[in-house]
Amino acid sequence: MLTATLMARKDRRQCIRCGECCLRSGPSLQLRDIPLVMEGPIAPAHLYALRVGELVWDNVHQQWQKTGTEIIKVKEQKGTRACLFYDAAKKACTIYEHRPVQCVAMKCWDPSEFMRVYQEPKASRKDIIFDPNLLRLMAVHEAQCGYDRLEHFVKAIENTGEEAVKEVLGILKWDHDLRRMAPENLGLPHDALDLVFGRPLTHTISMFGLKAVRKPDGSYLLTTLSSP
Ligand code: SF4
Ligand code: SF4
Repeated sequence: MLTATLMARKDRRQCIRCGECCLRSGPSLQLRDIPLVMEGPIAPAHLYALRVGELVWDNVHQQWQKTGTEIIKVKEQKGTRACLFYDAAKKACTIYEHRPVQCVAMKCWDPSEFMRVYQEPKASRKDIIFDPNLLRLMAVHEAQCGYDRLEHFVKAIENTGEEAVKEVLGILKWDHDLRRMAPENLGLPHDALDLVFGRPLTHTISMFGLKAVRKPDGSYLLTTLSSP
């Protein structure tokens, strides 16, 4: 959704429903969007969290950077960057009447309204999740599996080698085991895990140029990637 806002389409003066902005990404939620989650049509299963310190593509500055604030995003359609709510066959938003404020502000020919909305307070998980037990577990998860902690040990690999690799793998395992245990023990739906705990570290470890490979016994080993 964001990318199209950066380079104003001088060839347009109104929305022609080409769908380009919806095919690029789902929107992130501002605080004003919370009623859409509390009352519908957006459900926790439609969302994921980008946690503090996670490497994200900043469309405003057109670069990868670590996010300093938590971001709640609408999921993309599998294997694409298209917003989950975009119906390509109909070239239409399936929640158009109740779409997030960033989408309402989207005018690819004039980014000013979008940028104004984008500066407003962002939604975070604590605006959506209120169960005290779950919030406590999320805090423990953050302490164990926060991106700062992960980065600390990834950087230490160069100096301390295996010792730091063991710590990194321990963090990945903690994150993995929690996701496996939470649906069974807490009744948390599988499709809400990426909102509650953010995206799996076994995927996002790629931001450090590393790849987690699952071994037949269920444990992981680390290899390197050529790019994040
Ligand atoms: S606002 Fe989006 S859907 Fe409308 S013309 Fe621009 S890119 Fe296409
Ligand atoms: S919510 Fe609707 S308008 Fe917004 S990006 Fe998704 S499909 Fe497009």
